[in-house]
Amino acid sequence: MNGKVILVIMDGVGHDAAVTQCGFLEGCVELGRARRWKMRAALPTVSAAIYETLHTGLSPIDHGVTGNEALRRSTRPNTFSTCRQHGLRTAAVAQSFFFTLYQSRPYDPLLDVECDEPGEAIQYGRFYSMEGYGAANAAAPAEIDLCAQANLLIRRTDPSYLLLHTCSADTLGHTFGGDSAEYLKQAWRIDNALARVIPSWVEAGYDVFVTADHGMSSKGSHGGAEAGMRDVAFYAFSDAAGPREDQVLEQLAVAPTILSRIGAPIPGTMHEPPFLTGRVAGFIESPAVVSAGRAPRKPARW
Ligand SMILES: [Zn+2]
Repeated sequence: MNGKVILVIMDGVGHDAAVTQCGFLEGCVELGRARRWKMRAALPTVSAAIYETLHTGLSPIDHGVTGNEALRRSTRPNTFSTCRQHGLRTAAVAQSFFFTLYQSRPYDPLLDVECDEPGEAIQYGRFYSMEGYGAANAAAPAEIDLCAQANLLIRRTDPSYLLLHTCSADTLGHTFGGDSAEYLKQAWRIDNALARVIPSWVEAGYDVFVTADHGMSSKGSHGGAEAGMRDVAFYAFSDAAGPREDQVLEQLAVAPTILSRIGAPIPGTMHEPPFLTGRVAGFIESPAVVSAGRAPRKPARW
């Protein structure tokens, strides 16, 4: 039987912002309903480059989308195309860069905000442009509206893979800086909206993964290799076995991990092994963790 995965990308939310601001996600970790690792983003830490990395398992230097200016249709096997090859349904609520990467034509802001096209790589998509965003207007949808769109796509289409991508924290980070009240508050707003949907998605049988493409420097930038740009959190609502939580995960392993959880074959271009495997009752991943005196985890389900 195939599994189902929801990937949430909190664009620009660095590791420390997630850990300090996302009270729902951290509360789930504290209660044993989820696990959280530090993940090292690929380089360069630019959004379009990492969107493609998260879906192809390749470094930007290898897949060729090395920056937002280099945005074009993906030329490599990716999570969406692999699901489609194996007859699995796909859906996304995401900024229009994802349309450009994975659909068969350029994004048209007057037609492509809603896409219900079974022949496309993203069969059911809700796309936003953020056209004209800047300091005066972030032009980002409300977090709960994005969650609602994803929720409806899940109910209506029962996708094997759904991507939910929110760009608001990245926008505010660029405007106000990665240590600003505005940026940190937005990280919490994402968490607050996710708190209202993740329990039902887990109940519906999904593995839910929440991470970021990259972080944000205190000066409001990313693209480089400093820790604030490169370190992100990876939360997993899943009863799969995984590595110790003090292990730093590689972002190149996200795509093969998702395909493995869905039960789709992993393309030969994805070289990193999946970091979540199998399905274990009771959710205890490592005897070393238990022997260190920590209580066994509760089941991941609500
Ligand atoms: Zn950015």
